[in-house]
Amino acid sequence: MVIIKLSKRQDEILQIVKKNGPITGKDIAEKLSLTRAALRPDLAILTMSGNLDARPRVGYFFNESYETKQQAKRFIHQKVADYKAHPIVVGKSASVYDAIVQLFLEDVGTLYAVDTNGHLAGVVSRKDLLRASLGNQNLSELPVSVIMTRMPNIITINPDETLLEAAKKMIHNHIDSLPVVKEVAEQKSTYLLVGRITKTTITRAYLEIMENKST
Ligand code: ADP
Repeated sequence: MVIIKLSKRQDEILQIVKKNGPITGKDIAEKLSLTRAALRPDLAILTMSGNLDARPRVGYFFNESYETKQQAKRFIHQKVADYKAHPIVVGKSASVYDAIVQLFLEDVGTLYAVDTNGHLAGVVSRKDLLRASLGNQNLSELPVSVIMTRMPNIITINPDETLLEAAKKMIHNHIDSLPVVKEVAEQKSTYLLVGRITKTTITRAYLEIMENKST
C-alpha cells in the first residue's frame, strides 16, 4: 500500500478544491498567486494519485471516496501499542464475588486473571460471571480460576500487531477484548500482560482518524 505524502502546496491546492470545487486550474493559480504553468506538476500529481478528479471545461473536483479510502488505510495500519489501554487484572485465586465488584469499580466488561508471577492465566468476562452467579454457589468461596477461560485457549495480541488484526481476532472469535501480551523469554505460552484492546478501542481509533481528516 502506498500513502503519498503531499507537499505543502499540494495540500493547499486540495483545500482550495475541497472548498471551491469545481474550480479551474486558472482560478486555483490565482488564489495561490502563482502561474497556471507553475501549478501544472502539482495538479498532475494530485489527479494521477486520485486525490482530485478533473473534467474538461469544468475544472477540478475533490475526490471524497479517495480521501475516505486513505483514512481507512491509515486506520488499519495503526499499531496496537499506540492505542492499548491499561489491563484490569484480578488474581486467579480471587473470588468471583470480588471479581464482580472489581468489574463495577473499574467500569470494564472483562478482567484478566493473573498468576502469582503476574503472568496471564485467564479471561473473565461478564457472561462468565453471570453464569457463575446463576448457580446456587457461594460466590465469595468460588475462585475465579474455576470459571475463567484459561490458557492455552486465550486469544492474545502483540503490541506490534495492527488494529486491523485486533478487529479481525475479536470478530472471528466472537469476543469483546484481547489481552495485549509479550511472551516471556524462553517460556513458551507464558505471557506478560501489557495492555488490553477492546471493541471500544477500535471504535475510538476509527472516530479519531475519520475526524482528524488532514493528518
Ligand atoms: P461477554 O461475556 O461480556 O459477552 P465476551 O464476548 O468477550 O464478553 O466473552 C465471551 C466468552 O469468551 C467468555 O466465556 C470469555 O471468557 C471468553 N473470552 C473473552 N475474551 C477472550 C479472549 N481474548 N480469548 C479467549 N476467550 C475469551
